[in-house]
Amino acid sequence: MTHHDYDLIVVGAGSGGVRAARIASELGARVAICEMDRLGGTCVNVGCVPKKLFVYGSHFAYDLNDARGYGWSGEPSFDWRRLLENKNREIARLNAIYFELLERAGIELFRGRAELVDQNTVRIEGAERTATRILISTGGRPRRPDIPGAELALTSNAVFTLAALPKRMLVVGAGYIALELGSVFCALGVEVTIVHRGEEILRGFDRDLRCHLHNELEAKGVRIVLETQVEELRKRGPSIEARLDNGDTLETDFPLFAIGRTPNTLGLGLEALGVELGTRGGIVVDDDYTSSVPSIHAVGDVTDRVQLTPVAIGEGMHFAHRFFGESEFRIDYRNIPTAVFCQPELATVGLTEEEAWHHCPDVRVYRSVFTPLKLAMSERKERTIIKLIVNAEDDRVVGCHMAGHGAAEIIQGLAVAMKAGATKAVFDATIGIHPTSAEEFVTLR
Ligand code: NAP
Repeated sequence: MTHHDYDLIVVGAGSGGVRAARIASELGARVAICEMDRLGGTCVNVGCVPKKLFVYGSHFAYDLNDARGYGWSGEPSFDWRRLLENKNREIARLNAIYFELLERAGIELFRGRAELVDQNTVRIEGAERTATRILISTGGRPRRPDIPGAELALTSNAVFTLAALPKRMLVVGAGYIALELGSVFCALGVEVTIVHRGEEILRGFDRDLRCHLHNELEAKGVRIVLETQVEELRKRGPSIEARLDNGDTLETDFPLFAIGRTPNTLGLGLEALGVELGTRGGIVVDDDYTSSVPSIHAVGDVTDRVQLTPVAIGEGMHFAHRFFGESEFRIDYRNIPTAVFCQPELATVGLTEEEAWHHCPDVRVYRSVFTPLKLAMSERKERTIIKLIVNAEDDRVVGCHMAGHGAAEIIQGLAVAMKAGATKAVFDATIGIHPTSAEEFVTLR
């Protein structure tokens, strides 16, 4: 048998890669990992974590205002640079934790760009190292538009190092990143305009929630322009002018494009080795995350499937157990709960009403729209929507949706109930916690 330096070399130390490396190492494999950037990948450095810190930070604009109704007074002030510095400190702390985790697990860390030389060899900064298996977990990067003036377009990465708040922000797209960052900057007083090619924001989510959220975002001051594309960006003095396909132009200081993410497969030498790539450049893998070359595997965003951190982590665990252990850990792609941390936040698990009508012979829909008690004494009249979709044939709850304060925390729990196969009768038999928004889910008639 050929001797290799390692049992596993992982290329990319983000959520999926680090989890795979740690589990493989715990299972006795000799593991190395390489990373050319900061440890933790997109999620820790320019994604979920700093974004959520910005969401918390910006939401105080509403909370402080709500506080007046409860007797508080005074004029608070906001310092963007302080938020940025504190965010940077927290991210640096997490980077260090990732380093310690790898070190404690006995995983060798190589810093630098990696390239595959053959099916068992990785070249990192000139030095070649071999492994029985190679796992690619290089994630993705924001997609850039293909329009004249595209070099003026900024992506979500730029938001995390922004020196000062812009006055006007143009956000192109109406998916996760567009709505999350649009909400953050709107709350911080930036004039936000969302330009979206579709007929409603958040394609793929339940229509009721999409419309509800659209109204709530507009009520907060976000301008939403639908069925419109940006055709060109031009520098105009200190501003940037966007030419729209409806003939209008729009002046902005910060043209943010949030139009999806592209898998990071360029420059890895994959094509030369015959690794099959999808049309958008993602590595095509089978159910065990093996590519068309048996010793080369891939998990997470680089496979261009479900682009969610917990899914990448689950895939990394599945891969490590499958090839270095004995247990049969498998990730279940059904009913993956997900949240969009816009303001108000939206969270969902299971089928939308539209999908349910397509998949079930008969459907019962329960819906409630209300003002949460917390806002009863506030000027802000943000409404919450909750929706339960039930398969009428067997009474099973097949979809839970919510847009409102605490949606992500609530839907996470309901995802467990759905995984356990809860019926509407089980929801009805559950005692609510009063007074909460969550109790609405068990009192729907
Ligand atoms: P996204 O959610 O897929 O949204 C992309 C948006 O851009 C959609 O509104 C899409 O419109 C539009 N779009 C796509 N191509 C376009 C083009 N050429 N011109 C104009 N508009 C275009 O992607 P994202 O917001 O960039 O986020 C990437 C992924 O990261 C997400 O899919 C998600 O999986 C993950 N993510 C998750 C979270 C979270 O869990 N909270 C947060 C951020 C990101 P259509 O609807 O018409 O296609």
